Amino acid sequence: QRRLYAEEARLPAVTRDGVAVSLLLNAGLLSDMPHLDAVGADGIGLYRTEIPFMVRSEYPSVATQTDLYARVIDLAEGRPVVFRTLDVGGDKRLPYFAEMDEENPALGWRAIRIGLDRPAMLRQQLRALIQGAAGRPFGVMFPMVADVGELDDARALFDRELARAAAQGVAVSSDLRVGVMLEVPSLLWQLDQVLTAVDFVAVGSNDLMQYLYAADRTNTRVAARYDTLSPGLLAALAEAVSRCDAAGRRISLCGEMASRPIEAMTLLGLGFRSLSMPATAIGAVRTMVRSLDLAEFSRWLARVRVASRGSLRPAIRDYARDHDV
Ligand code: PEP
Ligand code: MG
Repeated sequence: QRRLYAEEARLPAVTRDGVAVSLLLNAGLLSDMPHLDAVGADGIGLYRTEIPFMVRSEYPSVATQTDLYARVIDLAEGRPVVFRTLDVGGDKRLPYFAEMDEENPALGWRAIRIGLDRPAMLRQQLRALIQGAAGRPFGVMFPMVADVGELDDARALFDRELARAAAQGVAVSSDLRVGVMLEVPSLLWQLDQVLTAVDFVAVGSNDLMQYLYAADRTNTRVAARYDTLSPGLLAALAEAVSRCDAAGRRISLCGEMASRPIEAMTLLGLGFRSLSMPATAIGAVRTMVRSLDLAEFSRWLARVRVASRGSLRPAIRDYARDHDV
């Protein structure tokens, strides 16, 4: 199996009917970066910047962050990298950050909420990204945005840091892309405004599922109760894809869903063409992509989706078996 995937890593992720799919890596440590080559990924779709913060014993300085982001971009060797700004709080704690004892951490002070309430922290991180890139392109996206105003505020901080860098003579690429994580359901009803403010959208299906179904992602008793292949989540995802397509904005998905072949196949059927996942998942997903007739499957999925009253998993699994996907 392992040798099969090593050989497959050199084959293009193109469906049987010729649709190219971008397979990207989720990363968070420098040691993740060599996997880009090993599994033949197209770039980093999600760099979780909180991981290096979580493994340190004190808050990293701007210089430390700058050095880290520079090395990430070095190791990507020209492939695109999307950095997500600090996503702490909820289930991700910083040992040196005491302000986080909350009754309901998933609904609490986390991610962009902290960044906007402590703008010096977010500005330092954005400054480090700009300095670390040193004129090379990169993408940056903001986690847990619930309101388009939060996105505007976060972008304004980024613009201020860009202006500061320019004033100080720091090289800045003209190809910087700004995006937002779609993981709080309220954003689905603000997509018109959101899509005028960003270059791309990245769906965080782990949190989107948690908030859509009111089911704590860390509580196995309730998390296992709802299936990601349920009509509710699939309808939300289909809507997001069609709105992004209509507005000419790129959309990808970087939650755990993308890493399972049956789910990944369903996402392609909904219109996703870019999936980001852990390195260990890319081989199996690439094999699925290469054996799928996407046009036929998409037509089938659209039909089955509207008629369905429960998880589509059994039907999709049968489809995959019957069509040798
Ligand atoms: C998600 O919510 O799906 C996601 C990719 O982010 P995280 O798992 O880091 O919250
Ligand atoms: Mg998330």
